[in-house]
Amino acid sequence: MAGNTTVGVLALQGDVREHERVLHDLGADVVRVRRPEELAQVSGLVIPGGESTVIDKLSRLFGLQHPIRDAIREGMPVLGTCAGLIMLADTVVDAIDGQQSFGGLDVIVRRNAFGRQVESFEAELDVSALGTPNVRAAFIRGPVIEHVGVGATALASLNDGRVVAVEQGGLLGISFHPEITGETRFHRRFLDRVAARV
Ligand code: GLN
Repeated sequence: MAGNTTVGVLALQGDVREHERVLHDLGADVVRVRRPEELAQVSGLVIPGGESTVIDKLSRLFGLQHPIRDAIREGMPVLGTCAGLIMLADTVVDAIDGQQSFGGLDVIVRRNAFGRQVESFEAELDVSALGTPNVRAAFIRGPVIEHVGVGATALASLNDGRVVAVEQGGLLGISFHPEITGETRFHRRFLDRVAARV
């Protein structure tokens, strides 16, 4: 991808470093985004896994909620994993009182749909948009996508049919953690979207 493309990792909470490493390895220039001035420098944003309730609160506290919503509306590519997917969802089920998302993805997600931390699991997913081999996906208290609206497209499902990855324009939301299983194709897809736009 073009060397002058800078992408951000939202660095309020969660596994920021793992995403930075994958993006670096793919040749991207990466900055941590904690304030609106940093958001203004980037052409795309990764929202990491962590705790969506905390990411939501801190994003409002740091004055980032509205700038991020505006950037999404203007077409900035965003990759959200796990809590990051929750932040991208238009509708969140089993949210805490007052919890807000940035929105942008026309989906309904349910938080903690796979149970508690000890019920974490890995699964092989056949993701045709990414080709072969299958994706090795780590699920850690992740959300499930209960409804995919007309604007969004399902990219991956579990064997039981539950949707765990969606895409809508430049927005990519996944329930699991590719950054911890050495899976780089979602990040590459995100960087391709960024490169196509700048
Ligand atoms: N359960 C977390 C939440 O609701 C998400 C877990 C994760 O990102 N690994 O935000």
